[in-house]
Amino acid sequence: MSAFADRPDRFKGYRGAALEVLERFQVGVWSQVRVVSTRGRFEGLILPRQESADASHVVLKMITGYNVGVEVSGITEMVEVGYREAHYKIPEQDFPYAEGKPNVTLLGTGGTIASRLDYRTGAVIPAFSPGELYGSVPELADTCNLTTKKLYGVFSENIGPDHWIGLAKAIGEEIERGVDGIVIGHGTDTMAHTAAVLSFMVQDSPVPIVLVGSQRSSDRPSSDAALNLIHATKTAGTSDMAEVMVCMFGPTSDQYGLLHRGTRVRKMHSSYRSTFRTVSDIPLAMVDRHLVTPLREDYKRRRTDKNVTIDAVFDDRVSIVYYYPSMKPDVIDSLIQAGYRGIVIAGTGLGHVNKGLYPALQRAKEAGVHVFMTVQTLWGHVQMNVYETGRDMQALGVIPGANLLPEVAFAKLGWVLAHTDDPDEVRRMMLTPIAGEITEREPFDGYMILQGGLPEVEEFNLKHMF
Ligand code: ASP
Repeated sequence: MSAFADRPDRFKGYRGAALEVLERFQVGVWSQVRVVSTRGRFEGLILPRQESADASHVVLKMITGYNVGVEVSGITEMVEVGYREAHYKIPEQDFPYAEGKPNVTLLGTGGTIASRLDYRTGAVIPAFSPGELYGSVPELADTCNLTTKKLYGVFSENIGPDHWIGLAKAIGEEIERGVDGIVIGHGTDTMAHTAAVLSFMVQDSPVPIVLVGSQRSSDRPSSDAALNLIHATKTAGTSDMAEVMVCMFGPTSDQYGLLHRGTRVRKMHSSYRSTFRTVSDIPLAMVDRHLVTPLREDYKRRRTDKNVTIDAVFDDRVSIVYYYPSMKPDVIDSLIQAGYRGIVIAGTGLGHVNKGLYPALQRAKEAGVHVFMTVQTLWGHVQMNVYETGRDMQALGVIPGANLLPEVAFAKLGWVLAHTDDPDEVRRMMLTPIAGEITEREPFDGYMILQGGLPEVEEFNLKHMF
């Protein structure tokens, strides 16, 4: 048995109270242990822990094959009786290459879609090389020849400007190589932010750029990982939509996926698989295993050239201020003092904040900080000419942000401020749509269609309208 201190990943994934207990009893991952706890006695193999899991349990694989989480506060004794390192690998199979099939590159950034919790060992393992992906989702080979590149391996809350810039450059290189489509594996939490930023950094792509993720890891029977990947590669390889898009579950059932424009999409549910929605508009298309069916006409078409504009810059001195009743001016002042160059306010209703903030908005204007208004309602346009408040704020330099979603306004402002600091130019660039981020009006059926509820909603409407 190797000396305890020499085992490299002996505490893999454990932190906080759970880590303390393992250290105290000098046991770790792959230790066969006898545990005495206030809940009883257990014997099993300590499994690695998923980093995002809680810090209050040690997970044991019991002799029965079941995994059990033992609450650490109740543990009074742990004794190592053996050590058995388990290795688990997804069976690698060569991804078949077929002349004539579209070439798709999958750029990985991390997130749940990049991990697979092996239910036998409990270890989080990557499922990422083409061989591993083919081993777990053989249908991918039906549509394309797949190449994979791991750019990052982070959960998406850790994605920021450096990753966005790296992604944009990698996309440029792939397009130059002549690929037929690009898929980006990404955590779902900030996928919409990345989609928005990339819509500005990568312009006039000749091929589809499809962000995809999964809400449930692929070890779970309800995982959306495989189907989302199939839909995304189908779109990247075969669709004629050359835009930055998000491809995720449509309904909660696995009937079809939806393609959302990168600048109008938002994660709207913390746990449903059908979490992404196109806001203030209708999605670009429905996609299933066989077909991409456009729901609209106004998308940029695929081209055969390799021209693309990569404009990968971002000034991160930009913030979003989510207004709440009674907000004090010091919130704005602290941003001015910290040197922020741009502020996106998510205001109430048509775009309001209380009068108490006005002096701070005046100070922002004097300091040359660019302030844009968006709406917390998410649906609908900012309208700052209706009420006195709106007019007053415009006089203080606050610029109505049309129907830019708050996060999209943030993404665009960071990108714009990396080009210019001139107030007129910043305003012009922000309010001139370049990737569908501002729509003139909302389609009448945009708010009505419970996206992802189709065709159920059509049936509902039919029943209730006639
Ligand atoms: N927290 C994860 C992430 O965004 C969740 C996911 O992948 O869906 O990276």
